[in-house]
Amino acid sequence: MIEDKNPQRTTLGALGEFGLIEHLTKDVEINQPTTIKGIGDDAAVLDFKDKKIVVSTDLLIEGVHFDLAYMPLKHLGYKAVVVNVSDICAMNATATQITVSIAVSNRFPVEALEELYDGIRTAAKVYNVDIVGGDTTSSQKGMIISITAIGEADEEDITYRVGAGSTDLLVVTGDIGAAYMGLQVLEREKQVFQVNPDNQPDLDAYTYLIERQLKPEARKDIKLLLKALEIKPTSMIDISDGLSSEIMHLCKQSNVGCNLYEDKLPLDPQFMNVCEEFNIDSTTVAINGGEDYELLFTVRMEDFDKIKGNPNFSVIGHMTQESEGIHLVTRANTKIPLKARGWNALSTDEDQE
Ligand SMILES: [Mg+2]
Repeated sequence: MIEDKNPQRTTLGALGEFGLIEHLTKDVEINQPTTIKGIGDDAAVLDFKDKKIVVSTDLLIEGVHFDLAYMPLKHLGYKAVVVNVSDICAMNATATQITVSIAVSNRFPVEALEELYDGIRTAAKVYNVDIVGGDTTSSQKGMIISITAIGEADEEDITYRVGAGSTDLLVVTGDIGAAYMGLQVLEREKQVFQVNPDNQPDLDAYTYLIERQLKPEARKDIKLLLKALEIKPTSMIDISDGLSSEIMHLCKQSNVGCNLYEDKLPLDPQFMNVCEEFNIDSTTVAINGGEDYELLFTVRMEDFDKIKGNPNFSVIGHMTQESEGIHLVTRANTKIPLKARGWNALSTDEDQE
């Protein structure tokens, strides 16, 4: 693991907390016009003029949200930023700044944190967000990362979970389920590695799935796409826990029901193949697997022509009156009540909510 791969190690104690922060943030650039003051004072100063501000925060804990046995630190840093930017995208807003706080035990050398920060900086560049603050401190055990993302939007563009109408169409971006199967592949390889460390895994057949798990992307392009198509979604959420639980959130907050169609779910061919290999039902994974970081939203029926045939969007269902409930309509045309099961629940078979 990390210790073995790093021939050159600098202990955290050698730099001290302030030295470490300075060391990690010395190359941080400021690109956003809304950033007046970034790192280097007691607080950052931002100026958004007449825009509305959206703020979202996430906590990632080693052993709970990530496993360093197969998650390279650079990817972890990248993903930590992406999951936060995704929440800003889910408000139909544009991410502009992040703060990054990290707690680590002294089993991590400075070089490991450099790698983590490298991923954070790369994502900040890709998503054009300024790193404007944060904290580093020690933990007794393991690594904890907390990122807060700040974004901006015009008031009329902001999209909430509440707002879906009972005749609206349900739309998802990209494809779903791949990140969960990527995790299954990585877990399997980890077990093989534990039995036989000399075994070099051949992961060619799983590249897309593994990338979706280790290096997901937030759909910051969707806000622009929808604007260009002159569509304002009536409600929106990002898919972090899984399609079914996100549908439940939209329905609950908007007081509507939903029919989700099994044959409309957008699934990647590699995903289908690997579900078969693992002998797992692809629909179950597609609706319960999480971490895809795609966007799920509703649009008015009149907007159907604007998104029809667009490769970025799949219409997967429609909203109904609340009294009709929330259902999956199977290929055989039977209606099954949809349950909100987070992706963690797949293995335990228990409701998470
Ligand atoms: Mg979210």
